[in-house]
Amino acid sequence: MCADKKHERPNLFKSLLGNKCARCRRGSIFSKKNPYDLANCMKMPEKCPVCGQQIEVEVGFYYGTGYVSYALSIAVCVASLIAWWLFVGFSIYDNRIFWWLGVNAVLLLILQPLIMRWSRTIWLAFFVGYDEDWQQGPPAGSGRVNATFKNAI
Ligand SMILES: [Zn+2]
Repeated sequence: MCADKKHERPNLFKSLLGNKCARCRRGSIFSKKNPYDLANCMKMPEKCPVCGQQIEVEVGFYYGTGYVSYALSIAVCVASLIAWWLFVGFSIYDNRIFWWLGVNAVLLLILQPLIMRWSRTIWLAFFVGYDEDWQQGPPAGSGRVNATFKNAI
């Protein structure tokens, strides 16, 4: 069945964590590996380097990532709140809750490049599913607008 690695289906969670293309789950959808290279951290190639899937599916495609980013940020806040509650605790007699607010804000700032990247990866995976036949070349319909435009000329 899956005799060689090329036919194995990579794990969805791992490919999302690693910012991989939603169609082949192998090619990186960001040009630079380091998310903390802030000048270039959101640069994406036009197409997936492995399967040819268009990364920006349509103009303004990634505007919707705000919803995913919001959900991820809330998840980080809830996780840090629970961690603070377990390891530090809250009390009405001191300012520990304000310390949590500050620490949480700094944590969100530090994680922001990662959250923005994961948001885009998850957003792309909402609309582009894993394709068993990704080796067959770019998906039907990718670059369709350009082809139509070329034919019109
Ligand atoms: Zn791909």
